[in-house]
Amino acid sequence: MSAVTATETKYVYGFPEGSREMKNLLGGKGANVAEMTRILGAERVPKGFVITTEACVDYMKAGKAPESLDGQVGEAVQKLEEETGKKLGDVSDPLLVSVRSGARESMPGMMDTVLNLGLNDESVLGLAQRTDNSRFAWDSYRRFVQMFGNVVHRIPGGMYESAIKKIKEARGVELDTELDDRDLEELTATFKQIYKEQTGEDFPQDPKEQLRQAIRAVFDSWNGKRAIEYRRLNRIPDEWGTAVSVQQMVFGNRGDTSGSGVAFTRDERTGEPAPSGDFLINAQGEDVVSGVRNTRDISELSEEMPEVYSQLIEILEKLEQHYKDMQDVEFTVEEGTLYLLQTRDAKRPAQAAVRVAVDMVSEGLLSKEEAIASIDADKLDSLLHPTFDPDYEFESLARGVNASPGAAKGKIVLTAEDAIEKAADGIDTILVRPFTEADDVAGFHAARGILTSEGGKASHAALVARGMGRPCVAGASALSIDLEKKEVEVGGRTLSEGDLITIDGTTGDITADDVPLVDPEMNPSFKTILEWSDEIRRMGVRANADNPEDSRKAREFGAEGIGLCRTEHMFMDTDRLPKMKKMIMAVTEKERRAALDELVGLQQEDFEGIFEEMSGLPVTIRLLDPPLHEFLPDRTELEVEITKIRASGEGKDELEQMEKDLRRVRQLEEVNPMLGTRGCRLAVLYPEIYEMQVKAIIQAAAAVKKRHGEAPMVEIMVPLVDFERELEMMGEMITKVAESVDTEGVDYLVGTMIELPRACLVADRIAKHADFFSFGTNDLTQTALGFSRDDAEANFLTHYLDEKIIEASPFETIDIDGVGRLMEIGVEKAREYKESIKLGICGEHGGDPTSVHFCDRLGLDYVSCSPFRVPLARVAAAQATIEQSG
Ligand code: PEP
Ligand code: MG
Repeated sequence: MSAVTATETKYVYGFPEGSREMKNLLGGKGANVAEMTRILGAERVPKGFVITTEACVDYMKAGKAPESLDGQVGEAVQKLEEETGKKLGDVSDPLLVSVRSGARESMPGMMDTVLNLGLNDESVLGLAQRTDNSRFAWDSYRRFVQMFGNVVHRIPGGMYESAIKKIKEARGVELDTELDDRDLEELTATFKQIYKEQTGEDFPQDPKEQLRQAIRAVFDSWNGKRAIEYRRLNRIPDEWGTAVSVQQMVFGNRGDTSGSGVAFTRDERTGEPAPSGDFLINAQGEDVVSGVRNTRDISELSEEMPEVYSQLIEILEKLEQHYKDMQDVEFTVEEGTLYLLQTRDAKRPAQAAVRVAVDMVSEGLLSKEEAIASIDADKLDSLLHPTFDPDYEFESLARGVNASPGAAKGKIVLTAEDAIEKAADGIDTILVRPFTEADDVAGFHAARGILTSEGGKASHAALVARGMGRPCVAGASALSIDLEKKEVEVGGRTLSEGDLITIDGTTGDITADDVPLVDPEMNPSFKTILEWSDEIRRMGVRANADNPEDSRKAREFGAEGIGLCRTEHMFMDTDRLPKMKKMIMAVTEKERRAALDELVGLQQEDFEGIFEEMSGLPVTIRLLDPPLHEFLPDRTELEVEITKIRASGEGKDELEQMEKDLRRVRQLEEVNPMLGTRGCRLAVLYPEIYEMQVKAIIQAAAAVKKRHGEAPMVEIMVPLVDFERELEMMGEMITKVAESVDTEGVDYLVGTMIELPRACLVADRIAKHADFFSFGTNDLTQTALGFSRDDAEANFLTHYLDEKIIEASPFETIDIDGVGRLMEIGVEKAREYKESIKLGICGEHGGDPTSVHFCDRLGLDYVSCSPFRVPLARVAAAQATIEQSG
């Protein structure tokens, strides 16, 4: 459109010059308005132009607008004036424009907008005359002064609100709509006064200057606090910048033949194939979305404006057919004429997403592949957890970050120990903490849900809760938690330990009401999506499960086996822990074997239960990998006790044993337990431990085969291997044990975790002794990055995210450049030696959609994740296959 010289970057595009393909340059909103202008015709879409994201990026880089920008904007304005036959600032019939932000991906409500730009002390009179509506003109002007001050100069909204309140009181009226044109004129003067006091300048009268400032303010809003936080949560890169759309204003507040609304092409909550939305007669769009007036259901528009309604319905259909996706549109009716202001792919909750996807396939609008690709896999696990009863009205105390989906209620406990104790008595609890640490994890198991006042989606609490399928609301900063007094202050109320609290990890809601929870029923559309995903995906999906109950759940969710059974988890409960401690504390081999004899039967029982649940499917059992310190008595406590006994002379009988324990604890204590005697290193020192486990596994498999005739598919996995000799030794030991028991002809595979950088680099040598590999990306991340997960999450990870040193937590999404590269080497080397080697992943990342895509690209055979994430991993795996073949 403009006469940009060859050396100048083109920063401004007229709507007819753009298209939906230009989203990166024009932002989602700008590209869609351009596209809409093409589909619906210029008379349905108010005219305008877009300033590119590139202009914003250059502005941010240089700290000032590019030199040619104002010139290009000036030309675009001139063109707009010609097309509309109106002029900015005209005293008889002024052109008014909106100035809106629009990033590549929609960031609803995160950035700023200025409406009614172009009004000044003179053009307001022109507008009044032209529309024959003085009240409307002054209302538009006062709104503009208010918005401009707020957006461009950050003048607090409260200042304007109190001025409105004051004038309403003076006039003895309650509603804004009861103020007449004189009142609004007076209010405008007050607002301009506020502007002058706050900025030291008069309110700008030149519309070109207004536009110049507004464009810069929208650029600046890209770096506003809200927008930055939103980008971090939604992993939107900071470098994208926002586009700015400048569009002729149309007015929904010009009387009873005007109005504004938002409409969805299908129901935005359920996905039902019927348009939904809200509208208001005689109102601007802001009135509809801000919630100051009670909106009306879109279906009622058919009574108010039958013709407009049928035009709207026709347009909604047309847009959906064109975009092949559910649309969310904003419209305005100005004196009986319908205008579409914007359209975008509708954000929708998981239940609507699956319904729309399935319906669109049966309507012939999408292929199964396209339907599956349209779903945000990350959101799907909200369909598998209980929710608040939607018909129950509750009083919200506060809202936090919706960190792990599902609703839960229970009595408040403030320590992990209390959660465990209460769980043993069958009492449901919610663990409430400022933040959580590694030691709290046992409490996660015991509690129904987790609530923290600090941290966000990448916090320790959030990650662990998601992995376990426990609901979690994190970072509820309105909560003030006093661990000493065992009290929680929130919303002006004080809740004590033992009081009821209810949380919804899907929405972030917190309430003290006893909200009934509804168990999820398998959504039929979700079922269909999962079936289609299974037809499409290449990779297998297994679950990480350590007991029969989780195994059953995993199978219900479609797991095709167990990819990781952590045997040390089998000893965490109160009955078994002492036996395990005894084994770890044993000084002589004889003592250790005696302790192991007490464990072997329990292990075998557990394995039998798991094999039965998983009959016909592979079960990977990992031999013991205990961080020793988790099983040792607390040294300081022992020392204090011993000193007390020595001083008082009471309890002398136990003294000898305690002193022996203390000596052993001191011996076993390590400086860095996570890098110490863990995994197969333990078995190199004390082979009898793994011998016991292998015996229990083989005997359990044999017993199950005897009972049911079918042999379980056993895979024995050795953890933390660095050197090929380690695995070779373990393989020899496993063969020896298997030969010593009656196997009933049960077969088994031997494999290893690949969770250390060295193992990736020498994977070909390790592969000589392995039937399969499973990437343990939790430890691989810790060791590749040199991050201890607990320390990173507690101390610096959030800061690293804030500082943009990293884009996402490496414990949530595979760090592709580092950890991913090591995995790639591991895969290459392993297949070099043994092409048929089975490869999987069992770190937490196995349930993260982005990581699932990466694993597919690597050619892994399966991913394994916690049971609750199995369904979304099935969908993500299908999406990965679709992406690969596309
Ligand atoms: C891993 O390291 O990725 C793994 C699955 O093992 P764990 O988390 O039990 O150390
Ligand atoms: Mg590990």
